[in-house]
Amino acid sequence: MDITSLLRKNLESIQEKIRAAAERAGRSPHEIRLIAVTKYVDVPVVRQLVELGQRALGESRPQQLWQRHALLGELPIEWHLVGPLQRNKVRKTLPCATWIHSVDSLALLADINRIAGELGLRPNLLLEVNVSRHPSKHGFPPQMMEEVISQLENFPDVAICGLMAMAGVEGDLEGARRDFRALRQLRDQLAPLAPPRVSLRELSMGMSGDFEIAIEEGATMVRIGSALFEGILKEHS
Ligand SMILES: *Cc1c(COP(=O)(O)O)cnc(C)c1O
Repeated sequence: MDITSLLRKNLESIQEKIRAAAERAGRSPHEIRLIAVTKYVDVPVVRQLVELGQRALGESRPQQLWQRHALLGELPIEWHLVGPLQRNKVRKTLPCATWIHSVDSLALLADINRIAGELGLRPNLLLEVNVSRHPSKHGFPPQMMEEVISQLENFPDVAICGLMAMAGVEGDLEGARRDFRALRQLRDQLAPLAPPRVSLRELSMGMSGDFEIAIEEGATMVRIGSALFEGILKEHS
């Protein structure tokens, strides 16, 4: 099969699984957005994916996001930064990324807010929470979130839209469900404490191995890489 046919087949299969998982959970599939994480493939494959209609793309490394944003500037892509953002990379990232999923400290949030104001931008942000408390994972400690939410009035130049998390241990599906459920419960607990213009409606959780579980637990954004590029990765990269 050529790359376009493989991509189309993988994309349709993921969309079908998203629909089925939403239905199992009594949710509308329209509540769930697929973010295609393109870090594993080269730019021509990314281009084909966009031509198949996939507009929301994610990268985990800021430099790669900058490069691809520049190379694919003529395409109607909505870029999501899903991996860690170092404070010295905020200024170059903001003009490229519509969404940043990985805000994991108040210092980073303050920098993003200040630079967004200077640049006249209003990025959409998610606060990453280390729900599994796994030391290798990024994110605010869950017990710090009430304090973080109480400070959000101080950041008028960003749109804080929700929370993001990764499951603690890859391949442990029961653990993943526990982590995703913990993120949703945390969101439900924090939502009434948020300032009036802040809505925590988005939950970015779930990757190739656990996105169906994440949808059952309330994900509104799933970040999928390897499942989308199955059959393409090995032969072509
Ligand atoms: C790579 C990555 C993904 C996608 O992972 P897959 O398991 O390949 O689907 C999702 N989120 C983040 C933060 C990533 O770095």
